[in-house]
Amino acid sequence: MFWDQESETLSRPALEALQLQRLQQTVSRLAARVPFYQQKFAELGVGPDDIRRLEDVRRLPFTTAADLRAIYPSGLLAVEADEPVRLHTSSGTTGKPKAIFFSRNDVNTAADMIARSLVAAGITRADVFQNMMSYGLFTGGLVMHYGAERVGCLVIPAGPGTSERQLMLMQDFGTTAVHILPSYALYFANYLEQKGIDPRKDLKLRKAFVGAEPHTEQTRKRIEEAFGVDVYNSYGLTEMNGPGVAFECEQKAGMHLWEDCFLLEIIDPATGEPLPDGQRGELVLTTLKREAMPILRYRTRDITSVIAEPCPCGRTHRRIHRITGRSDDMLIIRGVNIFPQQIEQVLMSMPQVGRNYLIIVEGLDDLTVKVELSDRGFDGQVEHLAALQNQLVEKLKAEIWVRPKVDLVPPGSLPVAEGKAKRVLDKRSL
Ligand code: AMP
Ligand code: ZN
Repeated sequence: MFWDQESETLSRPALEALQLQRLQQTVSRLAARVPFYQQKFAELGVGPDDIRRLEDVRRLPFTTAADLRAIYPSGLLAVEADEPVRLHTSSGTTGKPKAIFFSRNDVNTAADMIARSLVAAGITRADVFQNMMSYGLFTGGLVMHYGAERVGCLVIPAGPGTSERQLMLMQDFGTTAVHILPSYALYFANYLEQKGIDPRKDLKLRKAFVGAEPHTEQTRKRIEEAFGVDVYNSYGLTEMNGPGVAFECEQKAGMHLWEDCFLLEIIDPATGEPLPDGQRGELVLTTLKREAMPILRYRTRDITSVIAEPCPCGRTHRRIHRITGRSDDMLIIRGVNIFPQQIEQVLMSMPQVGRNYLIIVEGLDDLTVKVELSDRGFDGQVEHLAALQNQLVEKLKAEIWVRPKVDLVPPGSLPVAEGKAKRVLDKRSL
C-alpha cells in the first residue's frame, strides 16, 4: 500500500534529478534571503551557481545545533516574518532550545511525510490511532497527529497522560495503533501485567510506532512480545519537522528516508568526510522542500548507515539502519568508546532482566549499570541473583571491553522519565 505511489517509487535518476533541482532552489533562496547563510557562503566562496551536481552539496557549509541555538529565538527565516504558522522547539536539556518555524506548506509537507510513513506500515483510515506522545512544543504530538488525521484514522490525542487513562481510552475506543516512546512502552507493558490485562485478548492493538529515542532490536522484540503487535521504528528530529523523516515499511528492515524532502549524507563525525554506503557515521540532512526555514547539511549527531539495496516493498527512497547512538552520547571510559545502546542490547536479551536500567559513570571512570529485574529474575533466591550478576558483568565486559559494576534492583524501582528516557548519568561532567 502507498500513500503517494508515484513519489515513493520514482526511479533513482528521476529522484536524484528532483533532489538537485530542489537543492538549487533552496540554495538560491538562502543566498537571497538569509544573512546567516549569506555570510557562510561568502566565507566558503560558494553560491547557487556552484551547485551543478548532487555531490556539490559538499561545497556547502554545515549547520550545527550550536548555530541554531545562537540564532534563537529569531530562527533562520527565509520568508517574511508574518508567514510562519507554527513554531516547534527541540527538547534540548541544557541552555536555549532550537526554534523551528513552519509555513502552511511546511505543515502540509510534514503531514504528508507522516501519511506516507504510516501507510507504508499498513495503517488505513479504519485504524484508531492513539498518540501517546507529548502535545506542545515537542513535534511528536502535533506533527504525528496531523499526519494520522490525513490518512483518515480516528486520532486520539491522548498525550503522555497516566497509564490508567491510556488503558481506558484503548478499551473504550478500540485503539488499533499507538505512537509511543519505547521506554514508555516497556513501562506500560508492566502496568498492563499488574492489572491482569492481556493485550492480545483484551485490546485491539495491532501496530505500534516507536521513536524519538534510541532503542535496540531487542527492545523492539520485547515490545512486540508484550503487546502482540508489530513495532515500527520511526525516526525524526525537530530541526527536520520532527517525526516522518525516516520510517520502516512493513518489511521492518531499516527506515526509508524520504529523499524527495531531505538530502542525506553520512560523514565521519571527526573529519566531516563522506563515508560510503553501508559504513556507519553521522547522518547529515539538508531540507529540500522547506519554505519557512530551510537548513543546509544539518549535523544530526545521530549515528547510522545507509542500506543501498532496493527494498522489496518497491519504494526507491533509500533506507537507514536503526540509530545506534548519538556521537555526543558516546561515553569514553578508560579510553574505550562505549555507546549506551551496546549495554541495552545485552540487557534486553536476558529474560531475567526487567524493562528499565540506568548507566552511571563516576569517580575515575567507574561504570555502574543499575538493572531492574523482571518478575522471573526476582525469584527471591540469593544464589540466582549472584549468578545473574556475574553473568551480566561477563556479558557486558565482552561487549564493551570494560568491566562494569552491576547492581540488580527490584522490578519497578528505577525512576521513569516524564518524556524521553534518561539512561545515562555521567557524574564526571557535573
Ligand atoms: P527531538 O528533536 O527533541 O525530537 O529529538 C530528536 C532526536 O531524537 C534525534 O536526533 C535522535 O537522536 C533521537 N531519535 C528520534 N527518533 C529516533 C529513533 N527512532 N531512534 C533513535 N533515536 C531517535
Ligand atoms: Zn520498504
